[in-house]
Amino acid sequence: MNIVVQKFGGTSVRNLECQRQVMQKVLRSHREGNKVIVVLSAMSGETNRLLALADEWSDTPDAAEVDSMVSTGEQVSCALFAMLLKKQGIHCRSVLGFQAPIRTDSAFGKARITDINTRHLLEMLEEYDILVMAGFQGADENNRITTLGRGGSDTSAVALAAAVDADVCEIYTDVPGVFTTDPNMCDDARKIERIAYDEMLEMASMGAKVLQIRSVEFAKKYNVTVHVRSTFSDELGTIVTQEDETMESVLVSGIAYDKDQAQITLVHVQDKPGVSAQIFSPLAEKKILVDMIVQNPSKDGKTDMTFTVPRADVEQTIKTLEALQYEIGFEKLTSNLNVSKISIIGVGMRNHSGVASLAFQALADENINILMISTSEIKVTCLIDDKYTELAVRTLHKAFHLEEAETIDQS
Ligand code: ASP
Ligand code: MG
Repeated sequence: MNIVVQKFGGTSVRNLECQRQVMQKVLRSHREGNKVIVVLSAMSGETNRLLALADEWSDTPDAAEVDSMVSTGEQVSCALFAMLLKKQGIHCRSVLGFQAPIRTDSAFGKARITDINTRHLLEMLEEYDILVMAGFQGADENNRITTLGRGGSDTSAVALAAAVDADVCEIYTDVPGVFTTDPNMCDDARKIERIAYDEMLEMASMGAKVLQIRSVEFAKKYNVTVHVRSTFSDELGTIVTQEDETMESVLVSGIAYDKDQAQITLVHVQDKPGVSAQIFSPLAEKKILVDMIVQNPSKDGKTDMTFTVPRADVEQTIKTLEALQYEIGFEKLTSNLNVSKISIIGVGMRNHSGVASLAFQALADENINILMISTSEIKVTCLIDDKYTELAVRTLHKAFHLEEAETIDQS
């Protein structure tokens, strides 16, 4: 049995006309002899509308009831789409999370999939030609409805593809694929044909607009090939897959940015064992994601400690640390909200040097000051003044010739 998973996002199912277009894609795959699992999101805007209702009804809406309610968005689009297919004489049915079932933990609003009943799915696929399955939802061990976090239908699709060992997991969306950088910032941005899971994960802040990050982690873990492509054209999109040699021969794959960061500095921290733990453990307890960390060389037993946190967590970070000022022993805390993070990403960096220096030179030529630097095996990140974000993105895109599909000269 050839099984294909096709997931369509909110804009693709937003009205009858769009659903008819979606149906053409699904029918084509069916005619090619595949059993199709169609995974749908709620119609665009619907999830927000429902969540706003919960907030109107209660300041502290019960998380389980929120999930029970917000999951109806997907229920509606699936039932409507199944009606369309049935009118074409297709033997199909809608399947909700608890009917599959897609088992999750009980973390309402951000549940994780723990198990999918493959046997039941395969039985249903024997009986029906097409299953129209609700994305974003599952059920916990008490059969309470759960949801997987915003954008969670992507993860549903990848998980289902892994469960039935599908040939491919196609994620249809309103953009043609994953780009070398944000096309709204840089006219030269180019669609990437193939990207490695790790690169896609590093593109997080940008790529997240295309795929839920968790779906990429899932795809990597279960080795599911994901094809991100447009609902509204027949063009091939971007294949997200395992790293291979051709990918490694590309030095840099993309430039990502994140304007949602803030820089915090603790001035004159005592430089003694345990200080970092004293600073970062309380932040970790509050689930604040600390990213870049730089500790300056110490002078007279004191050092400055600088790091970044998401902008939304700045107040809590400051409050938490100032409450511990005496214990940690720092002189003062300063914060800077006008920063952005620019990252140069590529698995080719594993085997090639010189990326960082080329990036620094390109930024220097534009007089852009670098506030902090961090690197990993496949990424170089610079923190800069956020007013230069666009200039930096364009400059780096150009410096690495990302407008053309370039490979490293191996000679
Ligand atoms: N409908 C959900 C959301 O808007 C899930 C999804 O679309 O992936 O976040
Ligand atoms: Mg989405």
